[in-house]
Amino acid sequence: MPLVSSTFMLQHAREHGYAVVAFNVHTLEMLQGVVEAAEEAQAPIILQSTVGTVKHLGPDYIAAAATVAANRSQVPIALHLDHCSDFNLIVQCIRAGYTSVMIDASHQPFEENVRQTAKVVEIAKAAGVNVEAELGKVGGVEDDIVVAEHEALMADPDDCARFIELTGVDTLAPAIGTAHGIYKGEPKIDFQRIERIAAKVEVPLVLHGGSGIPEAQVRQCVSLGMAKMNVATELRIVFSDAIKAVFAANPEENDPRKYMIPAKKALHAAAIEKMRLCGTIGRAKGGAYNDHNGYSKRSY
Ligand SMILES: [Zn+2]
Repeated sequence: MPLVSSTFMLQHAREHGYAVVAFNVHTLEMLQGVVEAAEEAQAPIILQSTVGTVKHLGPDYIAAAATVAANRSQVPIALHLDHCSDFNLIVQCIRAGYTSVMIDASHQPFEENVRQTAKVVEIAKAAGVNVEAELGKVGGVEDDIVVAEHEALMADPDDCARFIELTGVDTLAPAIGTAHGIYKGEPKIDFQRIERIAAKVEVPLVLHGGSGIPEAQVRQCVSLGMAKMNVATELRIVFSDAIKAVFAANPEENDPRKYMIPAKKALHAAAIEKMRLCGTIGRAKGGAYNDHNGYSKRSY
């Protein structure tokens, strides 16, 4: 099927108590590795690229590769732009074929975040594209965005409700104590806060900083309303470690297929594990979405 907007798959996930995994990919092999895993798992999937990767590869190259993957596939696939604060780049990605975008103005005061998010929602809605926004600040490092731990601010549940009302945004990433990158100790997730936010807003919630959160905590987040889990750092590590292992055994290796294929395989296995953890395995099985105007009946 064609690339789909992530709105419907995430609403379905929130309603049914699971989360769709959004994988940050940087190369063709990474994209293929996670898509093949989703097909094996019969799971919906979101392919994500950071602004850095979009600048590195070009939005048209990424959208073309994701479109081929989706057209060949039986599972719903969305293509999402992660953490973007540049309106022009968001428009470029939508024009290239992205079906979901994140406007991240979380570093701005509330009213300015509302203004920038509403502006993106207006154009994205017209194109049938999902919009994600962030409230509060997720700590850690993502591309060249660095948020120190003491600067990370938790999202306020009343602000979340007001933000959605004012912007009409489809999905919300509230800062609840997770961080980008790999955690030094256990993450300090504020589960009560997730519960209070989920009670006030109906839109699917997004869990950023999904790498290295203990399994029980991921399950708890998902059960409380987190319907999308972003995984970036862990994938990069698995992929790179597999390549390093090839070169450790054979430092003279010079055929990219000889190290990319093992890396892709390692990624495949890691992706299946993440989908299992989020309860997304089997969710795209024939007819699984029919209780909610299945994809086949919708036009995107
Ligand atoms: Zn993030």
